[in-house]
Amino acid sequence: MSILSRMQDFDYEQVVFCQDASSGLKAIIAIHDTTLGPALGGARMWPYASEEEALTDVLRLARGMTLKSAAAGLDLGGGKAVIIGDPRKDKSEALFRAFGRCVASLGGRYITAEDVGTTVQDMEMIYQETDFVTGVSPAFGSSGNPAPVTAFGVYQGMRAAAEKAFGTPELRGRAIAVQGCGNVAYHLARHLHEEGARLIVTDLYEDNVRRFVQEFEAEAVAPEAIYDVQADIFSPNALGGILNDETVPRLRARVVAGAANNQLADARHAAALVERGIVYAPDFVINAGGVINVADELYGYNRERVMKKVETLYDKVKHIFAVADREGITPHDAAERLALERIEAVRRVRKRFLADPKHALRGLSARRT
Ligand code: NAD
Repeated sequence: MSILSRMQDFDYEQVVFCQDASSGLKAIIAIHDTTLGPALGGARMWPYASEEEALTDVLRLARGMTLKSAAAGLDLGGGKAVIIGDPRKDKSEALFRAFGRCVASLGGRYITAEDVGTTVQDMEMIYQETDFVTGVSPAFGSSGNPAPVTAFGVYQGMRAAAEKAFGTPELRGRAIAVQGCGNVAYHLARHLHEEGARLIVTDLYEDNVRRFVQEFEAEAVAPEAIYDVQADIFSPNALGGILNDETVPRLRARVVAGAANNQLADARHAAALVERGIVYAPDFVINAGGVINVADELYGYNRERVMKKVETLYDKVKHIFAVADREGITPHDAAERLALERIEAVRRVRKRFLADPKHALRGLSARRT
């Protein structure tokens, strides 16, 4: 299918391919929808096997950001970037500065941040070239690494889902299978361990797992085995597409709640989870802590305000379950419906014309001076 036809599918506004031979940069920026404001979404660095795979990922992630920011009540649109490369081998100052210039060229229509494979230090190199980057270190008045805030939100959403499944939000004594031992998972595991949950973890890298075993008394399993673990809760914190035809029947948990974006391979897998009696906390709702954190930089960053907002994700998830039950739809569809309704409502309000000083109407005022 051609790229333009793929963009028509969910009405993407713009897709930008970035190439810089001197630094080796190969990146794609997708802007899905800017009805609510500038498209904000992280830059993912991953060794994609093909351009096709990278394009599919960036398109899915960008639309996910539109839904996420809309559901979180933020005045932001949805966008995302992918940098094709291995974050363990291919990073350089030149690469991130070249990427920063591509972001700058969009004039604020896209604002970047961290995602899988990128760090605060990478954002600082991007910041050398553009202001349209968030999640730079607090030394620059920015919000720093969003992962701890994302994790706090996921923890709140997980408690709400546990309440729905087990009648209590308490996680003490629960067995929780954690897929991915990265940035967000680390801070999430700290909350879970402190509350007295038992953790079973996995990652592609041995050193990432070791930290969880040592600090949180976690039990380690092989990456493929995580779906079969006898646990109360399955928490996906690695990559997307992991709830699919092959894995959903294998899950033994009663709750799925994690930070990973695009957990469902397809929307129909939300129904497959319901059929199996599994409570699924929609990913783009419970992992919104990160974007709530970086979005606050647009108003002058205030950590206290951010944490108060992120804490409300507990009630938001409960509200989504209530709407899903009332309407007889999946929690995923309920969350998507609420997000799309908000975008439509704002789109309608914005149709009213407001004079802009740069608009041709300035000629009318100029006649009197
Ligand atoms: P990260 O790169 O720090 O962690 C991801 C971890 O998953 C890595 O350790 C990686 O080795 C591991 N992994 C990858 N594939 C795996 C597999 N098949 N099995 C087991 N482990 C695997 O990234 P992160 O920032 O912690 O983000 C984790 C997820 O949460 C991503 O999907 C990201 O898009 C999403 N997310 C992150 C934030 C944030 O604030 N960082 C916010 C919202 C959503």
